[in-house]
Amino acid sequence: MSELKERVKEISRRLKKQYPEPIVELDFSDPFELLVASLLAAQNRDTTINKITPALFRKYRGPADYVAADQAELEQDIHLSGFFRQKSKAIKALSQKLVDDFDGEVPKTLDELVTLPGIGRKTANVVMSFAMGIAEGIVVDVHHLRVTSRLGLSSQKTADKMEREMMELVPKRDWIHWSSSITLHGRRVCVARKPKCDACTLNDICPSAFSDS
Ligand code: SF4
Repeated sequence: MSELKERVKEISRRLKKQYPEPIVELDFSDPFELLVASLLAAQNRDTTINKITPALFRKYRGPADYVAADQAELEQDIHLSGFFRQKSKAIKALSQKLVDDFDGEVPKTLDELVTLPGIGRKTANVVMSFAMGIAEGIVVDVHHLRVTSRLGLSSQKTADKMEREMMELVPKRDWIHWSSSITLHGRRVCVARKPKCDACTLNDICPSAFSDS
């Protein structure tokens, strides 16, 4: 465990250098917008969702507006995101729950966030980490599952189990940055097919590194 913690410390140090600011690539200006953007981003690229949300967020100012929205009109407003029927229903259900149980505000605990329809632990962690600056867990998405496993830090196959292991290894003060930088590294360098090991800042400490040269 202590050897793993030392490796995590070094990985964290290098990733902080490469990705100085913790970021999420979806555009938003408050926790509710990030919830909506995250729902829309399922099965689609953040860059596509960022083309939809400026007009959407101007038109619908908060949960009450989505509750009152005409279903067909909302579907039209988000159709570029794909699966727009399911997604429009999900946004309406989420908004209704916020209006009914939370006075239209996004709750500030993970336990409450995961009671919202369509919101699992990963999205709850994204919203808490990046819209509220509160670290209650680590975001484990598809990039984390791949990169963490390649780095030899965890062999867990499910997000929940991997998150618990990583919460033991990464100091809590680094959880938000770790969540951000592993996702960015997975998107930009340690990509699913043909990871760019030659250009990777971690290649001398990664057990999965290979060289093209
Ligand atoms: S060395 Fe290769 S496999 Fe290891 S983290 Fe970097 S890109 Fe991924």
